[in-house]
Amino acid sequence: MAANTDANTEANATQVSRPSNSPARTMQSGVWPDLPAALSEQAVLPEHADYWRLRSSYMRVGTPGVVLRPRHEDEVALAIGYAGTVRGELGTAVPFSVRSGGHGISGSSTNTDGIVLDLSHLRDIELLDVQAGTFRVGAGATWGDVAAVLTPHDLALSTGNFGDTGVGGLATAGGVGYLARSQGLTIDHVQRVKLATADGRVRWVDAHHEPDLFWAVRGGATQVGIALEFEITAPRLHSSSGDAAIIHQHIQYQVSDLPAFTEAWGDWIRAAPREAESFLMIQPAGNGRAVVEARNVWANDDTDAAIPTLQAAESLGRVLGNQAQICSYPAIIPTPRQQHTGQQRIQMRDVLVDRADAELGAALAASLTHSATLLTELRALGGAVSDVDALATAWAGRHQEVLAATWVHPRDIAAIDASFAPIQALGTGMYGAYSSDTRPSAAQLTWPGETGRKLRAVTEQADPDLLFDQGLHLRATPTQ
Ligand SMILES: Cc1cc2nc3c(=O)[nH]c(=O)nc-3n(C[C@H](O)[C@H](O)[C@H](O)COP(=O)(O)OP(=O)(O)OC[C@H]3O[C@@H](n4cnc5c(N)ncnc54)[C@H](O)[C@@H]3O)c2cc1C
Repeated sequence: MAANTDANTEANATQVSRPSNSPARTMQSGVWPDLPAALSEQAVLPEHADYWRLRSSYMRVGTPGVVLRPRHEDEVALAIGYAGTVRGELGTAVPFSVRSGGHGISGSSTNTDGIVLDLSHLRDIELLDVQAGTFRVGAGATWGDVAAVLTPHDLALSTGNFGDTGVGGLATAGGVGYLARSQGLTIDHVQRVKLATADGRVRWVDAHHEPDLFWAVRGGATQVGIALEFEITAPRLHSSSGDAAIIHQHIQYQVSDLPAFTEAWGDWIRAAPREAESFLMIQPAGNGRAVVEARNVWANDDTDAAIPTLQAAESLGRVLGNQAQICSYPAIIPTPRQQHTGQQRIQMRDVLVDRADAELGAALAASLTHSATLLTELRALGGAVSDVDALATAWAGRHQEVLAATWVHPRDIAAIDASFAPIQALGTGMYGAYSSDTRPSAAQLTWPGETGRKLRAVTEQADPDLLFDQGLHLRATPTQ
């Protein structure tokens, strides 16, 4: 996703205003319980010089009452205990947000007048076994940081298309990246997770230790608890340079018949070897036409093997521009390390769709005619994503061929829904973390059927008082 920078961060900071009875004030005046001494040192209140840097996420301007910045797991446990005490005394309406990279699309990693637990101090990355590709990473690191550490060892992990995205949010939610067809989702490579639950306990969970929690934290996002560290195995790319090299092809098409183009793109990527991945960004260009930007990735630098597939991509439509290059994996996931000021003021919607065909193309075309629609995206799934059983993790959507998403002007909810309605109608699943929609219907689509039943049962045990009920949450919905 392209970043829309709000350079005037200082001006943004001066906009802080809060009602006189807000928790931030009541904390100072003694209505909030006192912070434990160990947390006070790292607590950032609105009058603190660092507050303007920490209050917002990428998608939302926040005005939390306090930002807590734990340096290690004991302080996380204290913070969870403190949040429980505050909510016990002042009511569960006091929001509690967990933040790793701050790129969450629903904006739930900040809040108004609540507590934000910011994990950015937990950002160590350690290669445990270079040969096996195993590394340990703190939730507060970014995927750009991870790629920089892995690349010199010819290792690359499918994460997202933007390096500033946080490890904690993405590695608990899914992870649909440029290497998805060859490697699967990010969560498919997670071996162990150090997890803090609502009772303040911190422990490693994996396939043998509390396997239900391990199942749920891979796709169930924040509902299970707070992931503090991950052990992950990154695949080796087998590039000739020994530097995680890939082939990146960027094509711009002018398209006058989006259903025919989508059908052709679907046929092409379905038949392509798994090394090929394709992301499309589709924008209206007037008179019923669209401009389509394709970012195609071949997951190594074997040009002989790649050329037939990349050449075939050039015949999918009228090509306005075409470039292909061999580059290292980090080169295609920009990591600008932006200050978060709520700068990306759009709404997003997504669904998983069974088949990339003319019917989907017609739905994209219909969505693009709506005045609220900015652009639509398609990301090819299948390949290694579909190798994993739908019940093996809490990410249920293993059979669908494509993720379809729309960027929408932040207007009223009716306009946003109307803009996405044609595509929504084809959805048989959803990637909850790639959407601003946190309504019960979104949770049901993200965690349908048996996945939803199991996730609900696990989280009822792990978080009985819904401490982590921020944003998309299954238990806001009736039992299916
Ligand atoms: C510019 C941009 C590009 C993106 N590109 C991709 C992409 O290519 N592929 C893809 O799969 N997704 C993509 N996403 C979506 C992104 O992966 C999710 O929004 C993810 O949750 C962000 O993680 P974060 O740590 O940065 O978010 P944060 O804003 O810090 O957190 C978002 C939410 O995740 C949960 N959470 C955060 N940290 C933890 C933790 N340690 N333990 C448990 N729960 C936690 C909380 O509910 C929190 O509210 C993109 C988002 C943006 C804004």
